Amino acid sequence: MLLKVENASVYYDKVEAIRNVTIEVPKGQVIALIGANGAGKSTTLRLISGLVRPRTGQVIFDGHPIHEMDPEDISHIGIAHVPEGRRVFPQMSVLENLEMGAYLRRDTPAINRDMEGMFHRFPRLKERRTQAAGTMSGGEQQMLAMARALMSAPRVVLMDEPSLGLSPVMCQEIAQVIRELHQEGRTIVLVEQNARLALALAQTGYVLETGRVALHGSAEDLSTDDAVRRTYLGID
Ligand code: ATP
Repeated sequence: MLLKVENASVYYDKVEAIRNVTIEVPKGQVIALIGANGAGKSTTLRLISGLVRPRTGQVIFDGHPIHEMDPEDISHIGIAHVPEGRRVFPQMSVLENLEMGAYLRRDTPAINRDMEGMFHRFPRLKERRTQAAGTMSGGEQQMLAMARALMSAPRVVLMDEPSLGLSPVMCQEIAQVIRELHQEGRTIVLVEQNARLALALAQTGYVLETGRVALHGSAEDLSTDDAVRRTYLGID
């Protein structure tokens, strides 16, 4: 198992955000975390990337515990986080944002190759490479945030609500990018309130309810589960 969250609980002061959460992320899969507002999805990603510490349990990456490491070290060993709300550097150009993604790398030829790859994958970023990131549309900023994460040459990409606030057309573009990343063998943990989208993209899904894993299984099984259909897909 490439990445595993094991029986993890996280508190914000006295508030329990997640309890006994176990999630397995095999190499090459897209894993969807779905659930309502406040269910603990973002906290689970923040736990994996070292932004919060577990009170109990652990996070194992490639056989090693990582839950006491600093976020920068975690990003160095290959876990990239695309946070909710994109968080690109608004004053910096597209190019500078992408360079920031690669700042821990020293392999210049490979960085240049990856940069070309990003411009091929996201032609709009190429057109706008000298433009300040903050002046771009939400969808373009989402693409930039993804491209910046990919520039770190990650082994796992954590994506927090990539579709949030985007038009249906832009959601489909983002979904297509995630499909392509999966076809290329990337490993992705995808947090989405848009359960329909997430289960269409993932192979395995976890349903979080008030900080606990209420259900997990293949995305196909979850999509046909009556409770999931009623609660998260809006189908009677
Ligand atoms: P959302 O889609 O709203 O981000 P989520 O499923 O990602 O929801 P979390 O953001 O992980 O949920 O929140 C889990 C719980 O922890 C919620 O009860 C939330 O109010 C609480 N929480 C999250 N961040 C903090 C914080 N910085 N301080 C205190 N409580 C927090």
